[in-house]
Amino acid sequence: MLSLTYKPYNLKKKHVFRIARGARTSTPLVLTRITFEGVSGYGEASMPPLYGESVESTMAFYQQLDLSQFQNPFELETILNYVDQVAPGHPAAKAAIDIALHDLIGKLLKIPCYQYFGLPASQKAYTSKTIGIDTPDVVKERVLEAKEFQYLKIKLGSDTDKEIIQAVREVSNQALYIDANQGWTDRNKALEMIYWLQEQGTVMIEQPMPVDQVVDLAWLSEKSPLPIIGDEGVQRLPDVLKAKHIYNGVNIKLMKSTGLREAYQMIVLAKSMGLKVMLGCMSETSCAISAAAQLAHHADFVDLDGNLLVTNNPYLGVGLEQGKLQLSNTPGLGLAPVDWEAIQGE
Ligand code: MG
Repeated sequence: MLSLTYKPYNLKKKHVFRIARGARTSTPLVLTRITFEGVSGYGEASMPPLYGESVESTMAFYQQLDLSQFQNPFELETILNYVDQVAPGHPAAKAAIDIALHDLIGKLLKIPCYQYFGLPASQKAYTSKTIGIDTPDVVKERVLEAKEFQYLKIKLGSDTDKEIIQAVREVSNQALYIDANQGWTDRNKALEMIYWLQEQGTVMIEQPMPVDQVVDLAWLSEKSPLPIIGDEGVQRLPDVLKAKHIYNGVNIKLMKSTGLREAYQMIVLAKSMGLKVMLGCMSETSCAISAAAQLAHHADFVDLDGNLLVTNNPYLGVGLEQGKLQLSNTPGLGLAPVDWEAIQGE
């Protein structure tokens, strides 16, 4: 029999984090634990307010769930279909169940989750480090703190975009990912900006324009010299099919996809259609970041730095060396032993 326990946790950010659509200093989480015959798997729902989920909505969703009807975690397809059908939406709440089940299954089988998916531990998972929108001086400071990373992900979409890039270039030669978070609305200006950004050492552009400007995004993806990756415009599996006509690639995040199982299906589908695959994250602890890192073998772009930008990460998981993720070969997600009762964060 499976039993689910959960608790809210407020994940605090090191710095005020500003993007094209707002600023915040912390992110609400709900941490999950699923136990079977004395073995526990851990998961996490991370819910930046912009996405519409909250601690309240997630707890209410879990009150509707009855996982005790399942005899063991290996009926994963059945369990996750049940969870998905309890109510529409709630992708992060669902991801926290999926992640905990994968951790649990890995521990019971005594294999790391990447092996459960038949994958090697990625040897090329160089994660980007995200730099939020800020004044040129603060941007420079953040860039200098991120020297060990091969890639910087720079948030743009304000009216100081060029100043921000110039500030970055004053102190660094690192390759850049750009995330405009839907901040550009004129496709001709966007294309011009992308050519300029290419000259500045940019290798990829994430969600340059609003998701509802589908025709403009498709036009931009055809003309752009750099791959255009859909993020806000790509949530779950059916969105990958649509993305083929709008973007050059998709940013897959566990908190959007409802967890590892659907994320893996999205990766396979995206690859089969010739789309680039990016693995992204929200502000997350090492639990959800370690989960996403299990799939890094398939990613063209890895942006799994959410656990590095916070001050009260309660888990120890995937490591980092010279900007490269280091997956543990211990079972499940590879988290260090967890003292669940000691985790207090509301
Ligand atoms: Mg993004």
